[in-house]
Amino acid sequence: MEKYERISELQLKLSELRKSKTIGFVPTMGALHQGHLSLIDKCKSMCNITVASIFVNPTQFNDKNDYRRYPRTLEKDGEILEKAGCDIVFVPSEKEIYPETDERIFDFGELDKVMEGKFRQGHFNGVAQVVSRLFDIVNPDKAFFGQKDFQQVSIIKNMVKQLNLTTEIVVCPIVREQDGLAMSSRNMLLSDNQRKEAINISQALFYAKQQAPGTPVNEIRDEAIRRINSSPELKVEYLEIVDANTLQTVSGWDDATEIFACVAVQAGKIRLIDNVQLK
Ligand code: AMP
Repeated sequence: MEKYERISELQLKLSELRKSKTIGFVPTMGALHQGHLSLIDKCKSMCNITVASIFVNPTQFNDKNDYRRYPRTLEKDGEILEKAGCDIVFVPSEKEIYPETDERIFDFGELDKVMEGKFRQGHFNGVAQVVSRLFDIVNPDKAFFGQKDFQQVSIIKNMVKQLNLTTEIVVCPIVREQDGLAMSSRNMLLSDNQRKEAINISQALFYAKQQAPGTPVNEIRDEAIRRINSSPELKVEYLEIVDANTLQTVSGWDDATEIFACVAVQAGKIRLIDNVQLK
């Protein structure tokens, strides 16, 4: 595996490879786990060359403490990527990605007014800034994102359309721990007790899946929230049952063809998200 910190050097290498090979890209913020590795595997199965990036993007953190606390395990990440058969890892500095402050403001209409966008003001603008910048640098044929960040996938697809990019977005399923907790870099920050109780998040979503579509949407939503909040360490920030296309809440099962339950939970200071398809 080759490691690059400089855009110019990475681009020189990629321009050579591009002549005969397809380039796949997996952007990450590091602290890698099996969820990230599933994206690497998918990328390797669909593209000749797999490029991963590790960059904890400051512009997508609305909470400075969250940014400071975010786990950074660069050395271990390198070993994991090497073992996984990643070809190239791009590890830029902040100056390399943002030589000047990125002033761009994206308009995602209603897509970023709800859920993560509502509770993390400016988060998706920062995501769009960094992903568009990384796409510009890597210019991948395909880029791989996890369904774990359900709303992020909608935002990225919308951004690709707005900017007329040719990169194909490939969405990969959520990888879970054995007990059902969605894998996340933030899981390692949980206390033992928080980790034990965090199982209730996916349990509540699986319960919702089991009940749909026999039970009214609002009854399921209320009961799922109640089940999570019954754990002393957990506090639901939002739990919404939404149309997968518009991300707006539905009131009945016939309101949309694809319906997801999306949740954000505060476990002490650690914020966890998860989702499941109900229809
Ligand atoms: P992050 O490093 O958290 O920014 O995540 C990088 C990519 O990995 C994003 O596309 C995430 O959606 C994806 N990802 C994170 N956790 C998981 C998971 N448990 N299953 C599948 N994909 C994931």
